[in-house]
Amino acid sequence: MENIQDIINIGKNLYNKDLTVGTSGNISIKTDKGILITTSGSVLGNLSEKEIVLIDFEGNEQENKKASSEKMLHVEIYKQRSDVKAIIHTHPEYLTTFACCHKALDEPIMSENIIYFEDIPVAPYAMPSSLELVENTVKYLKNRDVVIMANHGAIAVAENLEQAYLKMETAEYYAKVALNTKILGGARYLSQNDVQNLIELKKSKL
Ligand SMILES: [Zn+2]
Repeated sequence: MENIQDIINIGKNLYNKDLTVGTSGNISIKTDKGILITTSGSVLGNLSEKEIVLIDFEGNEQENKKASSEKMLHVEIYKQRSDVKAIIHTHPEYLTTFACCHKALDEPIMSENIIYFEDIPVAPYAMPSSLELVENTVKYLKNRDVVIMANHGAIAVAENLEQAYLKMETAEYYAKVALNTKILGGARYLSQNDVQNLIELKKSKL
């Protein structure tokens, strides 16, 4: 199946780009039949068909496999955001560093990223797999496609898997650069006027 192969390929890309580690993280896509999601404990960099399970839109497994423990996060995002067709949740090193420090990526330092993200907020901490985590994270995804999850990792949503992947990759790059600027004594901020012009540019492209 094309959809399953897409998830396997994106898992490899995430691993090859150091965007996932060990058995952490999960990937899903929304299909006509339900949600295809990685199974609990799967290694995203080394997925096969048996590590991908179909669940319905309420989160019930449609096959005899156990879906990721974060399945309800995926279910709720698809409920709230009809435009979203793919979700990637991983613990990339730099985004997770920001997550551990409760630091949003909101400094006006990179013009391209202001157009792409505006900013990347931090959703408050909650226990992994909990309903509270679902509520906290979904709230922040209302008007953003990438969110840092406090003391945990990051999540990227998009209209397809490729775009969700690119968002996660670009967000991780943004986090790396943001951290590097601290080594050189801090970035020089763009002015409020520059930021406004970038946001206007983004709106004109929509
Ligand atoms: Zn996680």
